[in-house]
Amino acid sequence: MAFWEFTIRVGDIFKDTLIQRLSHEGCLGMIENDDALTAYFPDSADVRTITNDLQLLKMLLEKAGPDHSLCFSSVLIPDQDWNESWKKGLQPADIGKRFTILPTWEKRREGRINLIIDPGMAFGTGHHETTRSCLILMEKFFDKQAHERFLDVGTGTGILAIAASKLGYKEVVAVDTDPLAVDAARRNISHNDAASIDVREGGITSAQESFDFITANLFSELLIMLAPEISTRLNRPGNAVLAGMLSGQEQEVIDAMENAGLHLVEKLADGKWVSLAVGH
Ligand code: SAH
Repeated sequence: MAFWEFTIRVGDIFKDTLIQRLSHEGCLGMIENDDALTAYFPDSADVRTITNDLQLLKMLLEKAGPDHSLCFSSVLIPDQDWNESWKKGLQPADIGKRFTILPTWEKRREGRINLIIDPGMAFGTGHHETTRSCLILMEKFFDKQAHERFLDVGTGTGILAIAASKLGYKEVVAVDTDPLAVDAARRNISHNDAASIDVREGGITSAQESFDFITANLFSELLIMLAPEISTRLNRPGNAVLAGMLSGQEQEVIDAMENAGLHLVEKLADGKWVSLAVGH
């Protein structure tokens, strides 16, 4: 399989909007460097629509003034180059007090909870602010509550489910609507010897049990829709971490969670992203 690689340069203030747009257009993975964003799409992607969209954004930004600009290029990468260019963007990262995220080819770190993640085609290498915030909040809440059952909604690479299992949750369920993510998650779980994780293809309704902790790193509209489903699956006491909101979007999510019977416990901002911990 070949991939389209888009290299996009845009000012910081538009980067997050761009990332959200690209995700909605079927982007399989992104690497954020200081000066550019590299986004990968399958060779079956509708490249013309993506290109038109970027061109439109470029025109709009030019109209907004001389300080704003966007430029981009795209190239079709043959299969064999894909892994190498992907690997170059992945460096081990320490997160929270205990976690280190590293790809399979790096040496394990002594005294840390190693999360071994090869991204494959799924989102969640641990380098994104939202994933980082989820891990920090998971670690913080772990000591405060029961840790029998954990649910990860939109597991991507499986990173949060693997972290839950390694923290000590006895049973972990992970769901994702994207079959590529399900495959990537299963592969990563096998690299981590985390046998107690049950990965299911589907949305939250494919997990009908109740849980002590739920993570959902999605986007605000979906979190709002899922609020009642999250609430009914959460034990009393129990907590959920919600991520994927841009700063300014969180109040709507908090309102939806409160309507569903959950209250806000903590808010954590990282860059322009906001994550919430809610509970019964
Ligand atoms: N949990 C990972 C990945 C988050 S990316 C992390 O924190 O890094 C969001 C994931 O949610 C993607 O893999 C996407 O396929 C999945 N997803 C999108 N809509 C979904 C839905 N309605 N139900 C379940 N998963 C969904």
